[in-house]
Amino acid sequence: MTKTIAVIRGDGIGPEIMAATLKVLDALECGLEYDFVEAGMVALEKHGELLPQATLDVIAKHGVALKGPLTTPIGKGFSSLNVALRLRENTEGAYLSEGQTLSDDGETGQSIVRNTRKGASRIVRHAFDLAVRKGRRKVTAVHKANIIKTASGLFLDVAREIAQEYPAIEFNEMIVDNTCMQLVMNPWQFDVIVTTNLFGDILSDLCAGLVGGLGLAPGANIGNGAAIFEAVHGSAPDIAGRSVADPCALLLAAAEMLDHLDMTARATRIREAIRAALEAHDRVTPDLGGSGTTESFAEALVERVRV
Ligand code: NAD
Repeated sequence: MTKTIAVIRGDGIGPEIMAATLKVLDALECGLEYDFVEAGMVALEKHGELLPQATLDVIAKHGVALKGPLTTPIGKGFSSLNVALRLRENTEGAYLSEGQTLSDDGETGQSIVRNTRKGASRIVRHAFDLAVRKGRRKVTAVHKANIIKTASGLFLDVAREIAQEYPAIEFNEMIVDNTCMQLVMNPWQFDVIVTTNLFGDILSDLCAGLVGGLGLAPGANIGNGAAIFEAVHGSAPDIAGRSVADPCALLLAAAEMLDHLDMTARATRIREAIRAALEAHDRVTPDLGGSGTTESFAEALVERVRV
């Protein structure tokens, strides 16, 4: 049986790591077909808009998208396409596109932080359900309710309430600044962390650093009707076009996608191939201390997933 997914190659290192990822997926013979769509600077050049409606329609039609990173120009006039494409809670918190203003004299910049009970409930429940599904033992809610009393306080209240529905899963709460220190000093105490957007964005990069860098950290945006899988990292303009980008983060996101599509055995083969290649230090990219290229690393993984 075949399943069609939407694929956004992205920009910067996006096209390089997407080509490597699709090569490995093809070697797995998943029966996947790709509907390539555009977003970001590529879409602006071709279609005159950053996020064409046709792209959104294709994602909605297939329900699953694999997405390369998209550059967000800094400053006024551009809101993040990555955020616009996202689903559910991760469009809330400090990531609201509305409410961002600069006073006429340019002296005051203001951004609104807003959490809703609905959005917080969905992400917290997802964290607990994920813990149950993956056999995890503990969920930690990370917040700043001592300072951001209303928005972060609401998130924490919701987390406390929902935790009571999952007595088999241990629950604790932690303030975000302490969490950063605890993650560095004793990361083993954590299992599943649930938090709001801005804290999650920062903590996910911190955690990526703990496990070998941004080249190894996958991400998933799972909504009710559609799911988008992508790397945690961005378009890495400093290394784009040099064939040194590590494809693992996007590949691990593809593994999450295969889990989502009930192709768990194939997802496991991707993770095991990556682990084996890392252990053998086989053709790995410079971020992992090797001298391989994106293509040679992908080849090393293709050989392993085929076995
Ligand atoms: P970045 O994640 O692109 O890069 C940070 C550092 O990590 C750079 O030194 C880069 O070379 C390195 N790096 C990232 N991915 C790597 C990989 N696969 N292999 C090896 N090294 C890798 O962050 P940035 O430079 O702050 O952002 C660049 C652009 O990406 C910005 O426009 C930002 O808005 C955008 N961005 C997009 C996403 C997304 O698409 N989801 C996420 C984060 C940032």
